[in-house]
Amino acid sequence: MADIIRLLPDHVANQIAAGEVVQRPASVVKELLENAIDAKASEIKLIVKEAGKTLIHVIDNGFGMSETDARLSFERHATSKIQAAEDLFNLCTKGFRGEALASIAAIAHVELQTKKEDAELGTRIKIEGSKLIIQEVIATPTGTSIAVKNLFYNIPARRNFLKSDAVELRHIIDEFQRVALAHPDIKLVLYHNGNELFNLPKSNNRQRIVNILGGKTNEKLVPIQEDTDIVKISGFVGKPEFAKKSRNEQFFFVNNRFIKSPYLHHAITAAFEGLLKEKMQPSYFIYLEVNPETIDINIHPTKTEIKFDDEHSLYAMLRATVKHSLGQFNIAPVLDFERDSNLDTPYNYKNKQAAIPNIQVDRSFNPFADEKKTFGNTTTAPRYTNYKKESTEGWESLYVGLESQSNSSQFSTENIEFESEAVTSSLFTNEEPRETLTYQLHRKYIVSSIKSGIVIIDQHRAHQRVLYEQLLRNITVSEAVSQQLLFPVKFTFSTSEIALLKGVKESLENIGFMFSDITDDTIELSGIPSNISESELQIIIEQMLNDFQGEIPDTGFSQTDVLVKSLAKSMAIRTGKKLEVEEQQALVNNLFACKEPSVSPFQKTIFITLSVDDLDKKFI
Ligand code: ADP
Ligand code: MG
Repeated sequence: MADIIRLLPDHVANQIAAGEVVQRPASVVKELLENAIDAKASEIKLIVKEAGKTLIHVIDNGFGMSETDARLSFERHATSKIQAAEDLFNLCTKGFRGEALASIAAIAHVELQTKKEDAELGTRIKIEGSKLIIQEVIATPTGTSIAVKNLFYNIPARRNFLKSDAVELRHIIDEFQRVALAHPDIKLVLYHNGNELFNLPKSNNRQRIVNILGGKTNEKLVPIQEDTDIVKISGFVGKPEFAKKSRNEQFFFVNNRFIKSPYLHHAITAAFEGLLKEKMQPSYFIYLEVNPETIDINIHPTKTEIKFDDEHSLYAMLRATVKHSLGQFNIAPVLDFERDSNLDTPYNYKNKQAAIPNIQVDRSFNPFADEKKTFGNTTTAPRYTNYKKESTEGWESLYVGLESQSNSSQFSTENIEFESEAVTSSLFTNEEPRETLTYQLHRKYIVSSIKSGIVIIDQHRAHQRVLYEQLLRNITVSEAVSQQLLFPVKFTFSTSEIALLKGVKESLENIGFMFSDITDDTIELSGIPSNISESELQIIIEQMLNDFQGEIPDTGFSQTDVLVKSLAKSMAIRTGKKLEVEEQQALVNNLFACKEPSVSPFQKTIFITLSVDDLDKKFI
């Protein structure tokens, strides 16, 4: 039989590659803007017509290309940005694959004009569907102009697949804004169908944000800033009262590159916990600077994901930094533009040996005992003695200690006292269990006395919080205990439900579920988390599927969050359940060992306190 394998001609290979690189006009915009930035342009003009469907034109004043480079730039895998694979680990440019121009030229009419600064004349090249039409010498200013016309002219299926002009323009504006926010030192202009949409002068980060989002934005921004060995964090978060329902003011930049990170996004929402109404989204513009060697930029051209070596520390730092800034702003709104060093973080990141935080707690302090001695005493701060704990939790513990510093108006003094107690109780798990006086009211609330008066705790919400943090911990460190089932249990689900379950299988395994079989319509479990009973299993899984259907989260961390919330909700003890004294006490102790004991995972108040003063007033 004759040989049948043939090499694809270049233009076909380019067209196939283009399918990956260029999904829509906005992808072209991104590639061309990034090339202009890599060429060190200080001014970039973007001109589009009909949402980029007929024209995308980028003009820069960067360093331009020589005649040979101009021709080579359209070859596949032709790049000036890396020479060897190792260079990938030290990238300071946006591009590196050398694929964008080749791909774009395969599926559009492209005209390039470029000149280097020291050259008299420049080069003009016209390429259509990978075919060189014209190459000539011309007079042109220093820099590069690339016009991309009739995108997808030779792939009608792709062209028909494009959305309305309004939608495609929105995507272009998104890309433009991401580049603009990442590079405030570059002047950027955007025209659409002859109208100037943006004209952004060279400026600083804050001014750039305001220029893009409008004058009112200035008063919304709370600056954040932190320098550590691992990362430099700067930027802004929006004040909680300006939060919106949409997520379109959420930006992360790593080394001036826009990225998406559900995990870091979660760190920010965690910092905002308790400050936002349900379904409201915080705004943020966060700039991270890290050593390029410590990140792994996904090699896929259109992906904006990134992997950090030390994601956990980054998470904790980001959360603490944002929380600190928010706290600072709550205490003194006037300080929000200028950082007051007196209010600086009480610990020193720069000389940080994070493994051994120095947390000061009083070992003998017991909030639930000895009320008589302190009755009516409103200055409730616990007494501190010097104590060093070898903590493996490093950052998290630091952060818990921080709570009492960021005395936001949302938290009453009593709450802050509890936050401090949380340190006490979580540090001394080996201590003798302390006696806690509790009483269950209407099978719904647990009442207990505390130093300043009494606390009334919603048992269902409290348990949700305890489970939520426990499950989240299990997922992140994968140390859940599971119970082997004597006989595996089988459940039947629809195809889409099975698909959902498969999507979260790994997280479920980390919590303690063991899958022995998954088919198109059944799952079989051979093990389940030790704190779930077999009889509840069906309800719990159904509830989880239900919760996922209502809100299909993107990926990664937010998905885990929905999953864990759902499980916490269905596993938590209900209102109406009678609790034994020991159970009540365990719940109270576990609750105040939580990082955020005051609100449930669904942002509902878990407990209220009544001080003796409050009671006294009622008896006047
Ligand atoms: P990459 O950016 O991954 O290197 P591209 O296909 O986007 O690949 O560009 C190929 C090469 O063309 C670049 O490496 C660069 O040398 C050159 N180039 C592209 N655009 C410009 C520009 N605006 N100014 C100067 N050189 C450019
Ligand atoms: Mg490029």
